[in-house]
Amino acid sequence: MIHAGQERRRAEIAANLDLVRGRIADACLAAARSPDEVTLIVVTKTFPASDVRLLAELGVLDVAENRDQEAGPKAATCAGLGLRWHFVGQLQTNKVKSVARYAHAVHSVDRPRLVEALSRAVQGRERELSCLVQVSLDAAPGRGGIPRGAAADLARQVAAAPGLRLRGVMAVAPLGGDPDAAFSLLATVAAGVREAVPDADWISAGMSGDLEAAIAHGATHVRVGSAILGPRPTTG
Ligand SMILES: *Cc1c(COP(=O)(O)O)cnc(C)c1O
Repeated sequence: MIHAGQERRRAEIAANLDLVRGRIADACLAAARSPDEVTLIVVTKTFPASDVRLLAELGVLDVAENRDQEAGPKAATCAGLGLRWHFVGQLQTNKVKSVARYAHAVHSVDRPRLVEALSRAVQGRERELSCLVQVSLDAAPGRGGIPRGAAADLARQVAAAPGLRLRGVMAVAPLGGDPDAAFSLLATVAAGVREAVPDADWISAGMSGDLEAAIAHGATHVRVGSAILGPRPTTG
C-alpha cells in the first residue's frame, strides 16, 4: 500500500513539474529569454522528506525551505541525493550556525547583523556560502527584506564578508499587489546592486502564482511550492 501511494504521489508531482516547466518555457519564450537562464527551485516546506526524494528522482536539483527547525532534519534525511538547499525564510541569528551546515544559498539576508553572523558561521569552510539580499517591495512589515534604498549598501557588505558570496537579490511580491509593478521595481534594485557588485546577477523572484511576471522582469531563480507539491496544510 505504501508503495502504491508513493507511485501515485510520484505521478502527481511529475505531472505538476511538467506543467511548471512548461509555464517557465512559455514565459521565457514570451520574454525572448532562454529557459537555461531560469533555475527552478522547488519549495518543499511542510512537505515530507519522501516528497523531496521523489523530486530528486524526477530531476530537481534545487529545493528550498523557510524554517530551520523543519529544514535541518529534512536536509539531513535527504543528504546524499545531490540536492542544493536554499534557505528562503526570515532568519534569526541564533539559527545561522545550523542553516550554514546545509544551505547552499541563503536568499533572505536583510540586515548587517545577519551578514556578520553568517560570515562567522562559515569561517574555515572551503566553499563560500551564496547569499542574496532580500528586498522589501512594500512598506508592509513582517515579510522580511531591507528597504530598497539600503539594498546596495548591504550587498557591498555581503560581498566584503569573508566566506560569503553575494549572488544577487530576492523578493516576494506584496500580497494583493500588482506583481508586474513589484518585479519591475525589483529589476531596478537588482541593477543598482550589480553596479555595486558586478557579478551579483541572480534575481530570485516568482512563485506559483506570479512566476510569469517575474520571468518577464528578469528573474533567474523562481521559487515554486504549491503548483508542484499541492496546497499546503497551513500557510507556511
Ligand atoms: C512558500 C514560499 C514560496 C513558494 O510559494 P508557492 O506560492 O507555494 O509557490 C516562495 N518563496 C518563499 C519565500 C516562500 O516562503
